[in-house]
Amino acid sequence: MEHTKLAIIGSGPAGYTAALYAARADLQPTLFAGQRSGGQLMLTTDVENFPGFPEGVAGPDLMIAMRKQSERFGTTIFDTDITTVDFSARPFKLQSSDIAAMTADAVILSLGAQSIMLGVPGELEFIGRGVSTCAVCDAAFYRGKNTYVIGGGDSAMEDTLALTKFADSVTVVHRRDAFKASKIMQERVLKNEKVKVFWNTQLKEIRGEEMVKEVVLEVDGKQKTFPADGVFIAIGHKPTSQLVSHAIELDDHGYIVTRQSATKHGVAAASAAVTDAGLVAFPSMTSVEGIFAAGDCVDIRYKQAITAAGQGCAAALDAERWLESQ
Ligand code: NDP
Repeated sequence: MEHTKLAIIGSGPAGYTAALYAARADLQPTLFAGQRSGGQLMLTTDVENFPGFPEGVAGPDLMIAMRKQSERFGTTIFDTDITTVDFSARPFKLQSSDIAAMTADAVILSLGAQSIMLGVPGELEFIGRGVSTCAVCDAAFYRGKNTYVIGGGDSAMEDTLALTKFADSVTVVHRRDAFKASKIMQERVLKNEKVKVFWNTQLKEIRGEEMVKEVVLEVDGKQKTFPADGVFIAIGHKPTSQLVSHAIELDDHGYIVTRQSATKHGVAAASAAVTDAGLVAFPSMTSVEGIFAAGDCVDIRYKQAITAAGQGCAAALDAERWLESQ
């Protein structure tokens, strides 16, 4: 069986950044990019909030650049999906459907997450052309526009507030008669004069030509069409953690628990693992020693390319120091 010091699973900003740092630390990492490499940014058009690109950068171009940069320093990349992992003993074992199984001394999980979609006509067709899943990223494109946010949780409230800075109107469409979001976020949304709420309402269809033009909403079984420039789907995210759910601790939402994120959910090992300086040792380590995690599969809150990249860097530094300590 082939062996690598460090395996990285996942090829979004967290995975490539982890690979870049690990390669420059001479760990000769092996990165499993998946058959569809590049993560969620491959589905976006302009990324205007990644520092270093004053004119913005296309999501796929950014990911190709990150991949090349990690390869330049000696990362080996396989465009294959890992199908099973065995973290019960060291070295850890990784199996994929189309290359030989591999063992690794340490593993970084950068498995990403996916926005949950409604599955209505027009939703996928108009992604990047009026339909978005990230208002923090895209709100600025909707200056003076008429926008809709679908959902009633904290993500929907956050998207609504982000949009009110730019859009002329933001209509929240929620399927029940009460929001699920925290009270403080609800209050901020409800007192904003740009915001209207359609309660007990479902989005049924998104229509347009080049760009989104209208939405079809249903209340009490009756459908009505409204003009719309932008539709933000904010009904939650799913971390891509099924691969490791049997092997490491996940939180109630399926996010991977690390020592850093362990405060609420508790990991037995975390309390013991404190450095002389009183800091948590290896904050990106999961409930299994030697397995680290970074990016959207860990992050329920920020979900940004730049925060994922930062976490990838931190996980590589933790893995390097942990390997040295062994
Ligand atoms: P949630 O699961 O909390 O909320 C999802 C919302 O979408 C709910 O209101 C739900 O309706 C609605 N919804 C789900 N499926 C459908 C559907 N098929 N059709 C119509 N509506 C649907 O997800 P969030 O992403 O909002 O939040 C996830 C977690 O992240 C939460 O713990 C949240 O607190 C946290 N978070 C924290 C933030 C912060 O602290 N700033 C920011 C964003 C998220 P219903 O109410 O009927 O269930």
